[in-house]
Amino acid sequence: MAGEFGNPEVVQEEVDILLIGGGMACCGAAYEVMRWADAAKAETGIDLKIKLVDKAAMDRSGAVAQGLSAINTYIGEQDPADYARMVSNDLMGITRDDLAYDLGRHVDESVHLFEEWGLPIWKTDENGERHDGSKGMPALKDGGKPVRSGKWQIMINGESYKWIVAEAAKKALGMDRIEERIFIVKLVNDKNDPSRIAGAVGFSTREHKVVVYKAKAILLAAGGCVNLFRPRSVGEGQGRAWYPVWNAGSTYAMAAEAGAELTMMENRFVPARFKDGYGPVGAWFLLFKAKAVNADGEVYMDRNKEMLNDYPPYGLAAVPASCLRNHLMLKEMKEGRGPIYMDTVAALAKLRETLSPREVKHLEAEAWEDFLDMCIGQCGVWVGENIEPEKKNSELMPTEPYLLGSHSGCCGIWVSGPEDLGAPTNEDHDDAAKIPGHLPKGWNWGYRSMTTVKGLFTAGDGVGASGHKFSSGSHAEGRMCAKAMVKYCIDNKDWKPELDTSPEQLVADIYQPVKTFLEFKDYTTAIDINPHYITPKMLQFRLQKIMDEYVAGVATYYTTNAHMLKVAEEKLELLKEDALKMRAKDLHELLRAWENYHRLMTAEAHMKHIQFREESRYPGFYYRMDKNFVDEKNWKCFVNSIYDKETKQWTVFKRKHVDLVDKSK
Ligand code: FAD
Repeated sequence: MAGEFGNPEVVQEEVDILLIGGGMACCGAAYEVMRWADAAKAETGIDLKIKLVDKAAMDRSGAVAQGLSAINTYIGEQDPADYARMVSNDLMGITRDDLAYDLGRHVDESVHLFEEWGLPIWKTDENGERHDGSKGMPALKDGGKPVRSGKWQIMINGESYKWIVAEAAKKALGMDRIEERIFIVKLVNDKNDPSRIAGAVGFSTREHKVVVYKAKAILLAAGGCVNLFRPRSVGEGQGRAWYPVWNAGSTYAMAAEAGAELTMMENRFVPARFKDGYGPVGAWFLLFKAKAVNADGEVYMDRNKEMLNDYPPYGLAAVPASCLRNHLMLKEMKEGRGPIYMDTVAALAKLRETLSPREVKHLEAEAWEDFLDMCIGQCGVWVGENIEPEKKNSELMPTEPYLLGSHSGCCGIWVSGPEDLGAPTNEDHDDAAKIPGHLPKGWNWGYRSMTTVKGLFTAGDGVGASGHKFSSGSHAEGRMCAKAMVKYCIDNKDWKPELDTSPEQLVADIYQPVKTFLEFKDYTTAIDINPHYITPKMLQFRLQKIMDEYVAGVATYYTTNAHMLKVAEEKLELLKEDALKMRAKDLHELLRAWENYHRLMTAEAHMKHIQFREESRYPGFYYRMDKNFVDEKNWKCFVNSIYDKETKQWTVFKRKHVDLVDKSK
């Protein structure tokens, strides 16, 4: 029976494996899972039922929606240990080498698949000539040489990157196993074992329909979180942000509520990007060798070089940690030497000294294409402001903070790593006393990428304490999950999931904002003004204001302290109460309401972790002004947390950090 507003149709489905999200990680899992499922069927006769749900349409969903112009992780001839070293240094020393190394040794296979599926990858021929595309050149896996824009990055013609990757995923999984425009609101634990996952519940953003899934294993890969802080673009530019606005912290919020251990939620990413359009800077820095300068044309990385000495060894590496590069830029802005510019004019002039006019024209076209491939809005800014990069420099600006685990950030969920890399085991941990009793003590507890909740897996932005996986690495991580999930299902073949909450209750919870609206809408004559409810938009404004002003947003130049965090804690507590009164006047608002709830949970985790870590580990991304130093002795450790959905309390604790790769090299 088709549902109606306020009275949705309820669909209940039982599957073995549920994939939540249709981004890079889930596309990787979708591509990989059938081959392991088919092999398992041949061996055991068990026919696993698999389903993928995405809140959007997979062809253009997730962070790669607009396309990309570079694949940022391709190892090639290099050593995965070097990659793990880079990840660690960029994230100020606190990452898990087991996860980074494992990713490094597997990621290239995903890139080779992308090329096989038709993604054009720039190549260099035997004479060193560059070819913008793969035509006529050997494939990477057959010895083709990619054009590297940096040590780990390779250039692509990537406007259709997500289409290509989604097409392969759809083909492998089959459209009958995929449902788009389903927004998952919460995970459901098992009735008989709360430390196990048993299902998930969500709703259609197009029809009046709630879906209740039972599942043995779930991959939660719904991206990172944006718009929990007040963005720089408000009013006229609302909706513009660097991070795609549709990833709303669902991964972190739902995992936390299911009891999964989070890690490094204090970490954030504040990219310095082209102002207003948020266009990418990678190609400019790495390919065109442009420099960022202050208003007087001074290169602030040179001018403020000494500041890097305060943060050994992370500031002293050949490429200082990303946050420290911001740290040097912020000094210029705070001391009144802004605006900051990308010196495109000087960079292109320098290239003109060695290149022919035809080559220069080609390069200028590439500069535009870099934006057209992945951030069309920046072209709009250039066109609207008459910017020709060879004649006029463009402003740079550090953005509002975002939370993510696959780009240059490492917040996320604590997962089981590979078995063969010498990671700490349950026995050799000396901080065991600090870790809540039911949690594993070591870094491996059976299935790669399983969280501390049995049967719940994550990948991409979901996996914390790693980072720098980017599009290719997220895809590879999804593939690793697929293999592990099939094994988990076969190992647990006789177990039947039972939801700890009745479907009726779950439906009532999800549709509460609609019920609130229908009950009170006639109380006033203006639909948005009502003492009985708050609109999702207003709740979002309140959240963003709290985070911006107290939790080190742009309003305070990314600074906070224990007192400000205490205020934030109280205000977020009240906001959580009010969140239960959000209204939804249509399906679109129902989506917005739950997105904001996920943002709020994510924001709370972020705040609690910053509060717990009594140092400023990421200068340039945030400063605890009352603890404005990096304290290697006491805080070179993971900060992890768990949330109790019954008591609504967070427990935050330390886990020991261990280097598995020699960092002195
Ligand atoms: P995503 O790919 O973002 O996918 C998340 C998926 O979850 C989406 O399909 C979304 O619709 C879905 N979803 C969200 N919430 C829900 C919910 N509640 N229910 C159901 N579905 C949900 N990498 C590179 O290699 N090169 C680059 O140049 C590059 N540039 C980048 C630029 C930007 C602005 C960003 C943000 C990232 C960039 N990356 C780049 C990194 C890359 O895009 C990410 O690492 C990768 O997309 C992460 O994969 P994911 O699957 O974790 O998340």
